[in-house]
Amino acid sequence: MFRSMGLGLLLVIAVTYAARAEDAVVENVVFAIHGGIGLDKVEMTPEIDKRVRAELEQALRAGFAALNKPNATGLDAVEAAIRRMEDSPQFNAGHGAVFTHDGRNELDASIMEGKTLKAGSVAGVSTVKNPITAARAVMEKSKHVLLVSRGAEAFAAEKGLEIVDPKYFWTEERWKQLQKQLEEEKKRSQIRGQGLGVRDQETAEVPQRHLPGFSFGTVGAVALDKAGNLSAGTSTGGMSNKRWGRVGDSPIIGAGTYADNEACAISATGHGEFFIRYSVAHDIVALMKYKGLAVNAASDEVIRKKLKAAGGEGGVICLDHKGRFYPSYNTEGMYRGCITRDGQVQVRIFED
Ligand code: ASP
Repeated sequence: MFRSMGLGLLLVIAVTYAARAEDAVVENVVFAIHGGIGLDKVEMTPEIDKRVRAELEQALRAGFAALNKPNATGLDAVEAAIRRMEDSPQFNAGHGAVFTHDGRNELDASIMEGKTLKAGSVAGVSTVKNPITAARAVMEKSKHVLLVSRGAEAFAAEKGLEIVDPKYFWTEERWKQLQKQLEEEKKRSQIRGQGLGVRDQETAEVPQRHLPGFSFGTVGAVALDKAGNLSAGTSTGGMSNKRWGRVGDSPIIGAGTYADNEACAISATGHGEFFIRYSVAHDIVALMKYKGLAVNAASDEVIRKKLKAAGGEGGVICLDHKGRFYPSYNTEGMYRGCITRDGQVQVRIFED
């Protein structure tokens, strides 16, 4: 009897889990975005909640409007929504980018087209107002995929993109965030010893996310256009307090961004080093293409199983070629939203 009760319980758990995963897939989606992992529940206030939701909805609508213009492609929608989020101080991208250890802002972005597998990225730029537009220019107006630092800035200027004084990226909130992290780092090194090697080890022991003032606020978008083509893009200031020209996963095709018409479009946010090492975006696409997994099963396999087991925090938004949208994350929440073909908007922060 107990055995059958146990089996029954297992069945209920299995069915509940399967239903929950299935329920989270939204059908008929043509455009979706994320605004990073954001704050934990304890840090969230009604004001921030309201502001984040409003900003996500505006970006979604900007992308949707771009998508519905005559002859528009998914790339137009991805670029329009990401530009909007880059211009807002709310997100860790463009204007609201986090600071490096040296008090600079070094931005990364990438974009990819699922029909052709063409892609473009920029990394470590400090003067390009909208890095996503620079990434698209790399894809469409150069023979290359990834341009970095001064070269990428020169390329953007040459192509007539808007160039700003690096001060444009200075925001008080992000500056305070860096100061908190520097103080914490100093405390740790005083307690545990001196020297760079020791300090690095100490910081590495504590997941970045749990250091004071830290949050992942990268932005990304995925689109399915009228021609049935998928596109994806991601833009970020990287990780606060980063050093030595550190580049994360966001401009790395296959790690933070990927789009393949035969599977899905993906944009990621989280601890970039893990996303690079685990080739997260491409791994999800590979599971769909070679193992026939559905978009939710493939992304949960990588994000909730592999990455979680490895200690890599973060998430992805995925949109497959049939318009099935699924966000997968191994943190408390992820700022995200999607819009269906008929214009119905859904915005979420936690599992609500
Ligand atoms: N993935 C980004 C990076 O590692 C950070 C983020 O998602 O907020 O650069």
